[in-house]
Amino acid sequence: MHLMNADLHCHSNVSDGTLTPEALATRAHAQGVELWSLTDHDELAGQQRAREAALALGIDYLAGTEISVTFINQTVHIIGLGINPQDAALLAGLAATRGGRRERALQMAAELARVGVPDTFEGALRYVGNPDLISRTHFARYMVEAGVCSDTHSVFRNYLTQGNPGYVPHQWARLGDAVRWIVGAGGVAVIAHPARYRFSANEEYALFTEFIAHGGRGVEVVTGSHSLNDQIRYAQTALEFGLLASRGSDFHSPGESRTELGKLPDLPGTLTPVWQALAHRVQRAAGAAASAPAST
Ligand code: AMP
Ligand code: MN
Ligand code: MN
Ligand code: MN
Repeated sequence: MHLMNADLHCHSNVSDGTLTPEALATRAHAQGVELWSLTDHDELAGQQRAREAALALGIDYLAGTEISVTFINQTVHIIGLGINPQDAALLAGLAATRGGRRERALQMAAELARVGVPDTFEGALRYVGNPDLISRTHFARYMVEAGVCSDTHSVFRNYLTQGNPGYVPHQWARLGDAVRWIVGAGGVAVIAHPARYRFSANEEYALFTEFIAHGGRGVEVVTGSHSLNDQIRYAQTALEFGLLASRGSDFHSPGESRTELGKLPDLPGTLTPVWQALAHRVQRAAGAAASAPAST
């Protein structure tokens, strides 16, 4: 089987990335990506631009999004791939999911001011590309600029996360709702970066079994935040639960993201890639307008 350079997870400045959808497409092309999906958090506003830019460069495209979900008091991310970006129920669900972000951001700023970090709401807003989508990442970028921490990873180690200043608990979408919005829009639902969650074994089992019961079909095995051990572990999970496997960098920004677009290990050959089940949903480039450099 031909090993496809598929990158099915990344973010533009329509959510918390720093590049435009067009610049991401150009970067994906330069890195030899053959099948791409832009998966902005809780938002589809970049989809048409990403698709058009990808097809013009000769890259096949799958419409995508990454939905914020609350499951057993933790935030879990569910990726939808191959969705119809005009689906009314999906659009309404995403609008409701991102609805509380401004209020949450104001509370985060108030908490940070209490520990001596002022003006973070205004500061974060200067990094926001989409006023509907102010995220912790924008706070982190401003706090680096303000000299509070040396890089965004250290912001998340010391602030904005559970148990640290500036963390504001938030109720995101329900797991079953997110999966149904994706499936109803013709897509496949995928559990994003499972190694990042802090569930007990029983809670993780509940996540996977409930996800499947609601119609979820995939899990991210190879992704920017997974170690080799995580890949091995979740390849096994995919086989145990009969799930399709996905591959995506979770690229956000040059210099900030650990993983470059398309620069990931291949999926283990024992797994069924999620794109096999989505062949009918891929927007195909008519014929490469420019040839991609050979992937290394
Ligand atoms: P939000 O949706 O506002 O809660 O922000 C979540 C985003 O913050 C994620 O999508 C990541 O881009 C970023 N993030 C969360 N935790 C970390 C972390 N530990 N290190 C770096 N980025 C993180
Ligand atoms: Mn993000
Ligand atoms: Mn995520
Ligand atoms: Mn992501």
